[in-house]
Amino acid sequence: MKKILKFTIKEREIIKALDLPDEVFLPLIFSVRFGGDWSVNKKSKNLMSVKEKITKYDKEKKIGYTLETIYLFINPILLKEEGKIYRMEKCGNKKERELVERPYSVIVNGDYILKAVLNPKDMKIAIKHIKGPLTFFGSAAYGSSHELEHLANGNIKDIPFWDFEYVLDE
Ligand SMILES: [Zn+2]
Repeated sequence: MKKILKFTIKEREIIKALDLPDEVFLPLIFSVRFGGDWSVNKKSKNLMSVKEKITKYDKEKKIGYTLETIYLFINPILLKEEGKIYRMEKCGNKKERELVERPYSVIVNGDYILKAVLNPKDMKIAIKHIKGPLTFFGSAAYGSSHELEHLANGNIKDIPFWDFEYVLDE
């Protein structure tokens, strides 16, 4: 309980120090607490968080950690996308995975962008205001595209996996 309180107080302090409305942080808080990418429309602002993960591994010492970088956008806009990747995705509000098409890379900007680096090794979440536009590849591009689609259309356009067909590979 004490730890939760301490964590929450520090979170409030950071939000206050950055001088942004509370609701703006919602997707970032979700990405930190529950993982993944998030988007929401609050008080006529589109908000989106996208997460990038890299594992740092020391082959000699055989030890490492997975660094998480979360980008929080206020009113994200897609400037450019390139490529078409067919992939399976599981949306938070659906039961099964579905087939979708995503760009391989995207360039995204926003009215305001925050970068939060969560380091599981030193247990710090370092937050900083950065300038866009940002280029994402692979996972973070798929995540951006998924969340931007939610913000634009609500639902995700997809093909259910029930349309797949098992084949015996002989
Ligand atoms: Zn979704």
